[in-house]
Amino acid sequence: MAARPAPYLDDLNPAQRAAVEALDGPVLMLAGAGTGKTKALTARIVHLLNMNRARPNEILAVTFTNKAAREMRSRVGRMLGDVAEGMAWMGTFHSLSVKILRRHAELVGLKSNFTILDTDDQLRLLKQLIAAANIDEKRWPARLLAGIIDGWKNRAMTPDRVPSSEAAAFNNRGTELYEQYQERLRNLNATDFGDLLLHCVVIFQKYPDVLEQYQRRFRYILVDEYQDTNVCQYLWLRLLAQAHKNICCVGDDDQSIYGWRGAEVGNILRFEKDFPGAVVVRLEQNYRSTPHILAAASAVIARNEGRLGKTLWTEEQAGEKVRLIGHWDGEEEARWIGEEIEGLQRGRGARARHSLEDMAILVRASHQMRAFEDRFLTIGLPYRVIGGPRFYERQEIRDAMAYFRLAVSPDDDLAFERVVNTPKRGLGDKAVQLVQIEARAIGMSLLEGARSLLAKAGIGGKGAAQLRVFVEGVDRWHAAVRNVRIVAPEDSLIEPLLPETPPANADSHVRLAEVILEESGYISMWQNDKTPEAPGRLENLKELVKALEQFDSLQGFLEHVALIMDNEREEAEEKVTIMTLHAAKGLEFPVVFLPGWEEGLFPSQRSMDESGKKGLEEERRLAYVGITRAEELCTISFASNRRVYGQWQSQMPSRFIDELPGAHVEVLTPPGLMGGGYGAAAGFGFSSGMEERVTKADVYNSPGWRRLQERTTRPVSQPSEARNMTIEATAVSAYVTGERVFHQKFGYGEITGIEGDKLDIEFDHAGLKKIVARWVVPAHQ
Ligand code: ATP
Ligand code: MG
Repeated sequence: MAARPAPYLDDLNPAQRAAVEALDGPVLMLAGAGTGKTKALTARIVHLLNMNRARPNEILAVTFTNKAAREMRSRVGRMLGDVAEGMAWMGTFHSLSVKILRRHAELVGLKSNFTILDTDDQLRLLKQLIAAANIDEKRWPARLLAGIIDGWKNRAMTPDRVPSSEAAAFNNRGTELYEQYQERLRNLNATDFGDLLLHCVVIFQKYPDVLEQYQRRFRYILVDEYQDTNVCQYLWLRLLAQAHKNICCVGDDDQSIYGWRGAEVGNILRFEKDFPGAVVVRLEQNYRSTPHILAAASAVIARNEGRLGKTLWTEEQAGEKVRLIGHWDGEEEARWIGEEIEGLQRGRGARARHSLEDMAILVRASHQMRAFEDRFLTIGLPYRVIGGPRFYERQEIRDAMAYFRLAVSPDDDLAFERVVNTPKRGLGDKAVQLVQIEARAIGMSLLEGARSLLAKAGIGGKGAAQLRVFVEGVDRWHAAVRNVRIVAPEDSLIEPLLPETPPANADSHVRLAEVILEESGYISMWQNDKTPEAPGRLENLKELVKALEQFDSLQGFLEHVALIMDNEREEAEEKVTIMTLHAAKGLEFPVVFLPGWEEGLFPSQRSMDESGKKGLEEERRLAYVGITRAEELCTISFASNRRVYGQWQSQMPSRFIDELPGAHVEVLTPPGLMGGGYGAAAGFGFSSGMEERVTKADVYNSPGWRRLQERTTRPVSQPSEARNMTIEATAVSAYVTGERVFHQKFGYGEITGIEGDKLDIEFDHAGLKKIVARWVVPAHQ
């Protein structure tokens, strides 16, 4: 068949085209943000298919998120039509690994229906092991052990491969516990996240015939965001690619932001050594951002040492400068950004109108999201949170998922433990203990333990009947999952909702999920619950069942949930995106807000505490990733007060603000700061047309900043025993009538009355107002 004409090549510049057309052998595309690496990678897939070099299912393409995989597939689809449907091997390292592992699970002692544990389950398991080993969990927390084990897995170390130099880990017990943990996982027929890849690597290394089968299948391998691969992922790729070496990796050393999770930027720097004769393509033209944005990002990243260094240029129009603004606190920051977004939506000033879809708020830490969520809910601004406090982590969702897990794999002991007495069935700790002892005695799962216990009447009274109902339920649901006909026993204690033969239509798993939640009594538990959260929980459960519709089986759904790194539901309504900087990698938005550029938040405290520059440099790369997500308008902000986990903290602007080049930055007036000329009376001492660098000294020496600082220090200087006291209480007790105060919006005024935590204030310009005390500070006039 003759190759079809190739319009997709016409969209590429010569360097990109070279990377696309070098079909055979290793190719490395090493280039800065927005230079079209992902675009070229997609074009390469199209080209491979178009040139009949491979069938769609013979291409292995590794993307950073599942969403990125979907996008890539749809782009290929747009160019080649149905062919894209056959691209079965496009996804994240994890999703691809699950697929491989399901086929060969027995080679690592698992069954093909193994469960994937989330961090919560993982911690619960580790806690049990730590307790059993007589280790004080307070001194040696499970979380620490989880980190150590993850670290080993990221470096592809099974327990027997942990080097003796690390034997001291976790009070000398690390390797031993790691081994026990792996054994427990095997008994549970479960894996954790790190295992998904590690098991594949072990299988590839131990069973050359299996490896060969995949080497033959994946004729071409493509990897996006290669700079963030860890050792285990690197081995996984190298094993698969070493026969034909048709591997194309793209990445940017300046965007390596997962070092804390074991990513090794060295992998990308070593590529040419690993694959001699590799075609190395460098791209320099940025197609995403305006020159100001690009210049700001480049200036920040230039502070890092040991970079490969890249020149980036753009043909884009100059556009607006990067905007910088300081706020009184995090709430104020959220309020201002909310207003900006609404303004941009309407097309304020000379700006074009923007859809909410065009705008994103990228935060350093997920706790920053709450202020935005609260504000946007208040003003009715539609938003979606990606990678934040996740839907699937809520209690009711986790309970429901545990039921689903039991239905799919009845031997899932963690799921059993979670729901055997939820809702309360009178199966307290004692009953569960009996089940555990029996399970251990017969060497089987808890469900089997329960069955055996019932058979020999080892549990009496109401508990027995309840346990029987539970076991019967799980049996019935499991049968339904397998589409097996099961007849309820004559003496069944309940009348099952499920017909004897489950309906075999496409939605039967959705119906089954509803049945499980009803039969188990879980739905009625929340219906009878009188707490204010109960209705919301029922809503969430409905949402969960709705989410199931997009999958064709319960197992497929469970797998999806275990794998998603972000909440990726697609909805019709336009929304602003709120996500972490880490999750934003590879994405682009016309308008980007980067809030919370404060010392201790960004760069994070942890990176500042670390000795050496490694942590800080990674934070700086994160700043670079953040700025380079923006196409047209990038706004950086900081607040002088922030409530972090219920505590007020006073904040200093981030050192990265220092590193922004003045010529490309416009400093905006903080809202509510008084005075006419911004630079003179209220601002930080800059004029908007400044050409010099914005330095922290400028900021701190400006009258506006000093005033902000004065206001900042006050609320946080609480005595330690008053930690839980509200700021209002502290503040209000400090005022007397007649005292002069300052309010951010209304300016100076005099207290005329005090009532609870509220003050009556006669403002010089704004007149009499009632104000909550914490919103004002004493005026130092
Ligand atoms: P990142 O490092 O952030 O992942 P990237 O190098 O993968 O960036 P892409 O996302 O592929 O960059 O491309 C950035 C933007 O530039 C996209 O909107 C893309 O469509 C556009 N683009 C890339 N190459 C070209 C080109 N040759 N002509 C026109 N537009 C291009
Ligand atoms: Mg990309």
